Amino acid sequence: MSIIVQKYGGSSVADAGRIKNVARRIAATRQRGSGVVAVVSAMGDTTDHLIDLAHKISPSPPPREMDLLLSTGEIVSCTLVAMALNEMGHKAISLSGGQAGIQTDTAHTRARITGLDPSRIHKELEQGHTVIVAGFQGVTEGMDVTTLGRGASDLTAVALAIGLKAERCEIYTDVEGIYTADPRLVPQARKLKEIGFEEMLELANYGAKMQPRSIELAAAYTMPVLVCSSFVDAPGTLIHGGLSMENRNKVAGVAADRNVAKITVLGVPDRPGIAATVFEPLAREGISVDTIVQNASVDRLTDLTFTVARTEAQRALEVTEPVARSIGARGCASAQNLAKVSVVGTGMQNAPGYAATMFRALYDAGINIEMITTSEIRITCIVDEAKVPEAVRALHAAFQLEKE
Ligand code: ASP
Ligand code: MG
Repeated sequence: MSIIVQKYGGSSVADAGRIKNVARRIAATRQRGSGVVAVVSAMGDTTDHLIDLAHKISPSPPPREMDLLLSTGEIVSCTLVAMALNEMGHKAISLSGGQAGIQTDTAHTRARITGLDPSRIHKELEQGHTVIVAGFQGVTEGMDVTTLGRGASDLTAVALAIGLKAERCEIYTDVEGIYTADPRLVPQARKLKEIGFEEMLELANYGAKMQPRSIELAAAYTMPVLVCSSFVDAPGTLIHGGLSMENRNKVAGVAADRNVAKITVLGVPDRPGIAATVFEPLAREGISVDTIVQNASVDRLTDLTFTVARTEAQRALEVTEPVARSIGARGCASAQNLAKVSVVGTGMQNAPGYAATMFRALYDAGINIEMITTSEIRITCIVDEAKVPEAVRALHAAFQLEKE
């Protein structure tokens, strides 16, 4: 029997009515003849509420307790979906992440999956059960419950699809698929029929609402992922590895990430080892640094600028200020309200003109570019956060993404 893994996000199971709707969809897939394993997220904003609640009790709750607490959100939704299916006359059983065989390391609140034992799921499927798995969680060797990081129910679904050798992984959400840009910003945005893993990974890392780790995992095992709506019946977007040459020859989409701050170390002496001295303490603190720009020095002094997530800006500044003093730099400056706008497409590899088109479009829209970074298939400009809507619209138009 072929197996399909489906994942339903928090908004798709936000109340009793929606849970019944999800159960109907699962039942319909089952009736088409496949075994179904459905992964669910916590209902609505449950995870956010649990985090708030914990912080009302303790400013820094122990991560182990946090994980057992947060795991309850998905336990609630998976049991309710199983009940809804049983009510409709379908045999279904809910499993926690641990019961489903998801083993992880001990890095609480951001654990990594270290193994998957699919035997329990197989046993249930053989008995004709539909299996509903609590997303975003696993269990350590010592039987402690872990969570896999925010938004990681997608990761659970992809991991199960791979471990169960499923036909594909279907992600049901509140939008109809992956668009050329956020349709709330660009009314002309077009839903993509398909997109390659590498392009999707860049878009996800640069602001598209998909969990990047799940795309990385799907790419590593070439597991096709279908993203579609849990509310309307419409063809979604297939993320996969086998795109034709034709489709590779364009910009796939525009992404925006508003969670950006920059820190500049001013008047840094131009000596070997300085960059390492600045970035090692940030790495030790677990602060992930993104774009880094260092100018050519004038009179043996230079400015070193880097970006971090805005949520980590304060901590990054606290780490960097003493370092700046210790190396004899002039000081540190920071700017909070920045954003990244990116164009992504495999077509830009070895093709000239994409960067120029991007910069011209932003200039014509009156938008100042603060920093620029690129990968082989992406160009990113750091701009004022307030300019994001105009920037995304300008880029969408400049690359003619409204056209098929
Ligand atoms: N409920 C978790 C979160 O909100 C996991 C998920 O939604 O995928 O981050
Ligand atoms: Mg959620």
